[in-house]
Amino acid sequence: MAAPVRVRMAPSPTGFLHIGSVRTFLFNWLFARGRGGECLLRIENTDVSREVAAAVEQIQRSLEWIGIDWDGAATFQLDRIERCQEEAKRLVEDGAAYEEEGAIRFRMPEDGITGWDDAVLGRIEFPNAELEDVVLVRSDGRPTYNFASPVEDWLDEITHVIRGNDHVSNTPKQIQILTALGSALPVYAHVPMINGPDGKPLSKRHGAVSTDEFRDSGYLPEALINFLALLGWAPDGETTIMDRGELVDRFSLDRVGASSATFDYDKLDWLNGVYLRALPPAAYADTLVAYLRERGNDWPEERIREAVPLVQEKIGRLGEFPSFAGFLFHDVEPDPALLERAVLEEAAAALERVDLFESGPIEAALKELCERLGAKPRQVFAPIRVAVTGSKISPGLYESLALLGREAAVARLRSGAAAAAA
Ligand code: GLU
Repeated sequence: MAAPVRVRMAPSPTGFLHIGSVRTFLFNWLFARGRGGECLLRIENTDVSREVAAAVEQIQRSLEWIGIDWDGAATFQLDRIERCQEEAKRLVEDGAAYEEEGAIRFRMPEDGITGWDDAVLGRIEFPNAELEDVVLVRSDGRPTYNFASPVEDWLDEITHVIRGNDHVSNTPKQIQILTALGSALPVYAHVPMINGPDGKPLSKRHGAVSTDEFRDSGYLPEALINFLALLGWAPDGETTIMDRGELVDRFSLDRVGASSATFDYDKLDWLNGVYLRALPPAAYADTLVAYLRERGNDWPEERIREAVPLVQEKIGRLGEFPSFAGFLFHDVEPDPALLERAVLEEAAAALERVDLFESGPIEAALKELCERLGAKPRQVFAPIRVAVTGSKISPGLYESLALLGREAAVARLRSGAAAAAA
């Protein structure tokens, strides 16, 4: 029987969690969860400073938010420092490593090749002559990444190492070390890097890169997961929208491509909009309220919920809500150049006469006003929209007026008329 799958997510706790790391962790997680396997969280820390503690906390919070879980408690590389030192000594005793100036170095073979069948890249081989005698333990006793990582893969019985292809050149060294330790070798799968739209490695220059930024902007975890899964993987040439369960069912390493993936922010916005629009209105309202509260926004919940029908079809990120619908919660400061006194005075009078202050009667009253003024709807509606919402872009005008209520709507039209440049 094949050994149960066991993978690891191995972040270096250096500051924020990069969205590219999340993509790589997602591949690990999908692979394990689709095979009844285990997914470990292994922190590759070389010290235990306050910064590390904060970074670890942030990594865990980000993964929890996006819905990538792990088995058991997170482990810390530093906790295995002594074990690494013991194993290094053993390698020295075996003649596989040697001491030099207080450090311990691995003795790489001089001839032959080291190769593996990469689950993504295919066969890869390195001439051993190219592999330097890597330091395993520094003179101050700290193990290096290239030693601690394979030692941990061995101790954790990792079956598949799924990581960024920037680690390809480390792999022959780690294979040699694992072999000398007497460990079985994991399957290696080196997944492609992520570039920005200009073909350069994804960085702050392109836009958001930290997981927190995506959360702050109002992307849904489900949309982000769907999007990230498609960075370098595709189940077929077509399917785009896949929920978590479908991703788990369909993910496989042999459909991961070798070439770099492009992070397309527009596609993410589109996908997020698809997920937002698909939410049942009550769930949308819950999500929106929670999102706003997390950001310290204390607008009345009742009113937020009432605004949902006006915004759900229109905004692609929850973060757009405050600027798109904020006029429902606070006063506006319209640009006087976009206001028209005569139109606004007439509109105020017309709305005062509407019997039932709902979107249907409001629409009828404003259309009648257009006819009476002999003006095109755009000429009438544009200044009304600006006076009432403070912006040229807003949710549906009639619905907005209705939700705002007669008193506030008429007051804004009148003060718009007073402020109008013409
Ligand atoms: N900490 C490494 C990274 O963030 C992980 C290396 C590995 O998976 O072996 O790239």
